[in-house]
Amino acid sequence: MKRVIFCILVLFLLTGCASQKKTTRDFFAMDTVMSLTVYGKNADAAISAAQTEINAMEKTLSVTKADSAVARLNAAGTAELPEDAIALLKRTLELSEKTGGALSPTLYRLTSLWGFTTGDYRVPTAEELEAALAEYRGGSVSLSNITVSLDGRSLDFGAVAKGEASDRVCGRLKENGVSSAILSLGGNVQTVGLKPDGERWSIAIRDPKNEADYVGILSVGETAVVTSGGYQRFFEENGKRYIHILDPETGYPVENGLASVTVVAPSGFYADGLSTALYVMGKQQAVEFWRSAGDFEAVFVVEDGSVFVTKGLADSFDCPDFQVIE
Ligand code: AMP
Ligand code: MG
Repeated sequence: MKRVIFCILVLFLLTGCASQKKTTRDFFAMDTVMSLTVYGKNADAAISAAQTEINAMEKTLSVTKADSAVARLNAAGTAELPEDAIALLKRTLELSEKTGGALSPTLYRLTSLWGFTTGDYRVPTAEELEAALAEYRGGSVSLSNITVSLDGRSLDFGAVAKGEASDRVCGRLKENGVSSAILSLGGNVQTVGLKPDGERWSIAIRDPKNEADYVGILSVGETAVVTSGGYQRFFEENGKRYIHILDPETGYPVENGLASVTVVAPSGFYADGLSTALYVMGKQQAVEFWRSAGDFEAVFVVEDGSVFVTKGLADSFDCPDFQVIE
């Protein structure tokens, strides 16, 4: 009898899984291709709510859409921002401090000088860079309620916006009753729950040198997995590659031997901010940061192709050859 009940239960679970309809929607927002895959009945409504959220964020945070709240603030120097953008700015400035300034949401003048925000790439002259850097170094951001005043600095949320968006999307999906979903917003992946069959999700870490290949596969539960890589946006001039992640100390694109950094953490915002910051720090300093923070895991791919994984991921990383960071 027990056996019959067990079989019925298994059948029930299996048919339960089968009835978890899969809905995928791909669209372009925040300068990248986004893909939301949601399981269950309410998927369409949930995805629409998520898309509305992303569009609203872009309308506030975009530096390239001239009528966004942040673009208007950058142009005017002083302006009000919506409360959620103020909260995001505060959190990003805190994370900037925690990373010793490696993450800096106030270097828009520098990112635009290199053309990374518009796509009009060019190497600035030494004088241009020196002037922009001097303003940045001597500059400040001050907040009074919802009014932001910029002095010598301008905002660029590019390093955290997609991670913040994936946190908000996961929130919207859950509010709409979704218990299983996976999102990919450019290099940012975030999951809700487990796969409908109760298995963990498999997330490939791209090979920085080959778009069609990956260096390994992570097996994860509900989490964010965010990668920063020089390969994601760069240009070449006179045979030299200039990537979109800048060292706030020098104003130059980072060049430290790293090819990509992937951060695994519960929050998309935190994982996104850290993936950029760790990339700026370089492997050695990033590992020291990982040891002292103790609240995330990471995968480092070095330019020579070697792969390093922090010990919390060692058992869930499928890769032919990698070294574990203790
Ligand atoms: P991500 O792809 O998350 O690593 O973010 C890179 C984007 O953040 C760039 O395209 C710039 O818009 C911006 N950015 C570049 N360097 C930094 C930095 N050191 N700190 C914060 N944002 C940066
Ligand atoms: Mg980032």
